[in-house]
Amino acid sequence: MKPDFSKYNDGLVPAIIQDASSGKVLMLGYMNEEAYQKTVDDKRVTFFSRSKNRLWTKGETSKNYLDVMSMALDCDQDAILIKAHAHGPTCHTGSESCFDANSSNEDDEMLRFPASPAGKRKSEILKQVQDDKFTINDLEKTIHQRIDDKVEGSYTYSLIQKGINKVAQKVGEEAVETVIDAINGKDEDFLYEAGDLMYHYLVLLKAKGYSLADIEVELAKRHGK
Ligand code: AMP
Ligand code: ZN
Ligand code: ZN
Ligand code: ZN
Repeated sequence: MKPDFSKYNDGLVPAIIQDASSGKVLMLGYMNEEAYQKTVDDKRVTFFSRSKNRLWTKGETSKNYLDVMSMALDCDQDAILIKAHAHGPTCHTGSESCFDANSSNEDDEMLRFPASPAGKRKSEILKQVQDDKFTINDLEKTIHQRIDDKVEGSYTYSLIQKGINKVAQKVGEEAVETVIDAINGKDEDFLYEAGDLMYHYLVLLKAKGYSLADIEVELAKRHGK
């Protein structure tokens, strides 16, 4: 199904771009039918830029392209959600997302939702949220960074240099250790090995050119989505 471009007088449908691995919203842009079609064809995000008054492939000068991992329409086909892999910072200010709290006025802006302790500034709260939670997505990001940037001295990079067989073998070993501890081991040993397995599984995905986002797509298929 295609977006309903006729809903808008100018034929521009909003497109939300979300980082496929972290789920972070990177930016909002607008697509006319031509931009939408080009995005589908190239599997790379192209907007219609109102300021340039032409098609604009995000990254055309910066090279910070947005490679499309998946596209979806909302309930009434007048908004587009694109999960993408960003080649670099998406915002022209150099930050990862256009919604990053990195502007000079970030501390002037209070978070207004009720749970926000009165007077706590946005930067403090964001920091607290970030500090509190380490996610699998954070781990995956770190793994991809070590490999993409060929970080010398990194265990991840040295492992991947040994080749796919070695990486796959490690997953097998960690899976066996996890199974053994699941059946006979102490909970703390099981958790330790389950963590090892998760880490090596992510490295294997990356070694095969995939990420958790691809697994999500694969599993979604089986739910008839
Ligand atoms: P790029 O598409 O990344 O090569 O950037 C080309 C131009 O598009 C930049 O010089 C900015 O004027 C504009 N631009 C790039 N990224 C954004 C963005 N996330 N939001 C708004 N404008 C942008
Ligand atoms: Zn809608
Ligand atoms: Zn921006
Ligand atoms: Zn282990």
